[in-house]
Parts: sequence; C-alpha cells; structure tokens
Amino acid sequence: MNKELSQLRSKLNQTQQQVQTLLEDLQGRSPLLPASLYQLQRKCGKPNCRCTKGQLHQTTVLSYRGQQKKQTITPPQEQIESLKKVTDEYRRVRKARAQLVRLQRQLLDIVDQMQAVRVAQGERDLEKSRSASSRSTRR
Ligand SMILES: [Zn+2]
Repeated sequence: MNKELSQLRSKLNQTQQQVQTLLEDLQGRSPLLPASLYQLQRKCGKPNCRCTKGQLHQTTVLSYRGQQKKQTITPPQEQIESLKKVTDEYRRVRKARAQLVRLQRQLLDIVDQMQAVRVAQGERDLEKSRSASSRSTRR
C-alpha cells in the first residue's frame, strides 16, 4: 500500500469527522439575530452632571443590520441578556459556517492530492510497460 495514499486517506477521514461534527452543531433551532450589542458612551446635556467631568453615561445598544438598513436600538435592561444570547449564537453559527467552507476546501484538496498520487502511479506503470514492450517488440 502506498504510504502517501494511506496518510492522505486518514487525513480525509479526520476532516470528514470534523465536517460531521460541525454539521451536527449547525442544526440548532434556537433563534438568531444578526446584530451586536455594544456600549454607547455619551453626555446627557445637563450642565452639572458628572458626564461634564468626563464620567460619561453608558447605555447598551443593539446595532441591528437585519432588514435593509442598519438601525441602532436601545433595548430595555431586562432584554439585554436574551439579546446577548441570540446575537452571540448568530456569530457562533456564522463562524461555524466559515469553518465548514474551509473544511470542504480541505476535503477537495485532499481528494486532489490522492488523485495526483494515483495518476503518478498510473503514469509510472505505463512507462514501465512501454519500456518493457519496446525491449521485446520494435515498431
Ligand atoms: Zn449626564
């Protein structure tokens, strides 16, 4: 058995396992939101407020890039936890999808390498048989 081929074959199996795990992970059912939470710091405008001395007010806002145009929403405090969940999950599945693309390219790459090894083998065999037959039968 060709050593290079068996190495490639185990690499192929490993990658296939990774794809399988990733696909299982990508079959979640929880809602996703293409948005991100971030802290906004601002001055309120009251003349004697602490924010005039540099202690800015912090608000958690949701930057939502869903329907057509981007919007910034200020969610009520009690929704922030669940919004964090759906936005984090969105980022996580997008990352997983990118990983799937990478693994699929890797699979194709391994398949190409395996084929190249086999083609090289086929060409060596052809060369051998041609030199053998040219020794016995002259054209
Ligand atoms: Zn203020």
